[in-house]
Amino acid sequence: MKIAIYPGSFDPITNGHLDIIVRGAKLFNHLYVAVSENISKTTLFTINERVKQVELAIFDLPNVTVVIVDNKLTVDVAKSLGATTIVKGLRNTTDFEYEFTMAQINKRLVTSIETIFLTASPEHIILSSSMVKEVAKFGGDVSAFVPKHISTVLSAKFDD
Ligand code: ADP
Repeated sequence: MKIAIYPGSFDPITNGHLDIIVRGAKLFNHLYVAVSENISKTTLFTINERVKQVELAIFDLPNVTVVIVDNKLTVDVAKSLGATTIVKGLRNTTDFEYEFTMAQINKRLVTSIETIFLTASPEHIILSSSMVKEVAKFGGDVSAFVPKHISTVLSAKFDD
C-alpha cells in the first residue's frame, strides 16, 4: 500500500494544484491532500472553507482524502497517516530552490520519507493562488485558472 501526502495552503485550490492531485493519485494507492492551517500566514479563506473547496474539487477521485494540518511538521503528519512520500509540484526555479531545501530538511528529520516532484503541466506553469486572488480582486475572469466553484466563491468574496 503506497500512501502519499500533498501539502499546501490551497488558498484557494487552482487547476495547477488539481493537476498535481490527479497525477499524484495515479502513482499511489492513496493520496492525502494536507491543507495547512498556518497561523503565521494570512489566508483569504478560512481553513474550513479551504478544506470544503478542495473536497469539492476532488469528489470524483476515490483514492484522495483531504486532511487538516494545524501547525505540525509535514513529516510528522505523513508519519501519522502512514505516508512514505511527500508530493510537491514544481513550476520554475524559484519553486525548485525552496522545495529542494525543504526536501533536504524533511529528509534529515525523517530519513524514511521521500519527497517526489511532479513538474507543472505547461498550461499551469504561470498559475498560483496569489495570482488568481490578485486577478479576481480587480474583477478579472479567473475561470480558466480554477475549478468552477472557486470562480464563484472568489466573485462573491470580492463583490462584498
Ligand atoms: P504554499 O502555500 O506552501 O506556498 P501552495 O498551497 O500554493 O503552497 O502549493 C502547494 C504545492 O503545490 C507546492 O508544491 C507548489 O509548488 C504546488 N503548486 C502550486 N501551484 C502549482 C501549479 N500551478 N502547478 C503545479 N504545482 C503547483
